[in-house]
Amino acid sequence: VAASQANFKRVIIRPERSRSDGRDSKVGVELLCVVRDVLKKIKRRVLVGDKVVVGSIDLVDRRGVIENVFQRSSEILDPPVANVDHLLVLFSMEQPTIEPFMLTRFLVEAESTGIPLTLALNKTELVDEETLMSWKNRLRSWGYEPLFCSVETKDGVDSLAFYLRDQTTVIVGPSGVGKSSLINVLRSNHRSFDAPEGDNWFDPISGSNWFEDQRVGEVSTRSGRGKHTTRHVSLLPISGGGFLADTPGFNQPNLLKVTKHSLARAFPEIRKMLKDREPEKCSFNNCLHIGEPGCIVKGDWERYPYYIQLLDEIKIREEFQ
Ligand code: GDP
Ligand code: ZN
Repeated sequence: VAASQANFKRVIIRPERSRSDGRDSKVGVELLCVVRDVLKKIKRRVLVGDKVVVGSIDLVDRRGVIENVFQRSSEILDPPVANVDHLLVLFSMEQPTIEPFMLTRFLVEAESTGIPLTLALNKTELVDEETLMSWKNRLRSWGYEPLFCSVETKDGVDSLAFYLRDQTTVIVGPSGVGKSSLINVLRSNHRSFDAPEGDNWFDPISGSNWFEDQRVGEVSTRSGRGKHTTRHVSLLPISGGGFLADTPGFNQPNLLKVTKHSLARAFPEIRKMLKDREPEKCSFNNCLHIGEPGCIVKGDWERYPYYIQLLDEIKIREEFQ
């Protein structure tokens, strides 16, 4: 399901994986589908990103009926997308500069989804090589291998696109770092590289092109209190066979899914320390690694104070829940 608008879902159907290279074919046909009543009755929501069974296919009018929804491998809420298999955490070198605690919050929120993440830093043309190298080393010590890019000069954008191939990706990060700009260049890349396939994306129902018609789905229902604020999201096909959400994800990480016991797993530094000491373990099963007797996690790493700070924040929240 690539987009959802009112009672319709836009579903892309593709031929089975070709046997020669094992990759999804880039050629697809888009159908405008309704959801079968029985699914609505059992309150089975159909999300953007869902893999679905479509019946009653009419290839002439490009219509179909969603009969069933496959089990999801993941589900994120902001924006609502199913089967996301990659989060791209985007920050910028300047305007705004990297604020380490804020970056940590984003990384922790992303890690807590269990979805693989890539960290990328934009606006590299605004700083010198030395600054880039020092951030690269610093982030490596946190356990991340950052990618660098500049949407402005297009430096590094191709290799970033390479990391997104064959996956459904949501970009997350604070405002101003260039998320929308990046989504726009990746989208225009697709349009220019895959122009011959453009026909497949022409929607005979609205008479418009898929790519030029992203706004169609934004139905503003007026309630007594004003405009409906549900975040609209659709998936853009990108070159290489993957999809990119057109709406950036959580830009205010609230860490509501993180518990005081799951927090440690969101820090690669702690994961590594525990792994390096295997089969040794902390004495307490539920060790929070804050100086308990028999704890094998040391506190001599850069982000340890952030770990403590987030732990305190989560403890307070849990107490008041
Ligand atoms: P978002 O809030 O993360 O979606 O950020 P935007 O995509 O709206 O970008 C914020 C500002 O940064 C805009 O003025 C962009 O033109 C600018 N911007 C985006 N990428 C770059 C870049 O690589 N270099 C520079 N100098 N500016 C950029
Ligand atoms: Zn411990």
